[in-house]
Amino acid sequence: MVDESGVNEAEINESASEPSIFTKIMQGDVPADILYQDDDCICIRDIAPKAPTHLLLIPRRQIPRLADASDADKALLGHLMLKVGDIARQVGVDEAFRVVINNGANAGQTVFHLHLHLLAGKFFDESTLGL
Ligand code: 5GP
Repeated sequence: MVDESGVNEAEINESASEPSIFTKIMQGDVPADILYQDDDCICIRDIAPKAPTHLLLIPRRQIPRLADASDADKALLGHLMLKVGDIARQVGVDEAFRVVINNGANAGQTVFHLHLHLLAGKFFDESTLGL
C-alpha cells in the first residue's frame, strides 16, 4: 500500500526491521562526527551539510517517520525538542536556527529513521519556510 506521501508501506516496514544508517552509526559500525549522545538519542554532523551548521538529532529507537510515533514516544519526542535547543546553545547558534523534520519521501525524507535537522549559520527568510 502506498501512503499519502507516496511511500510504500512495505518499504517502511522493511527499513524499520533492518538497522538504518543512523543505527549503524550508533552501533559504531559506520563512522560519524558525534557531538552528543545519551541513553535516548545521538547528535551527529550531517555528512552533506545544507548550512554552515547542519546537525542531526536522532533517537536511538528506530521510529521510521514522525507520523509513526505514538503516545509511548511522548517523553522521547519532548526530550528531542529540549535537547535540540540545548545543543544549539552549546554550539552557539541558539539565536537563530531551524529545526526540520522531513516526513515521507515526498517531503524529502531519505533516511527512514526519525531525525531532527538543526540548521544554522545562514539567514533563513520567512519566505523560504515552504521551500
Ligand atoms: P532526510 O533527507 O531523511 O531528512 O535526511 C537524511 C540526512 O542524513 C541527509 O541530510 C543526509 O545528508 C544525512 N546522511 C545520510 N547518510 C549519512 C551518513 O552516513 N552520515 C551522516 N553523518 N549523515 C548522513
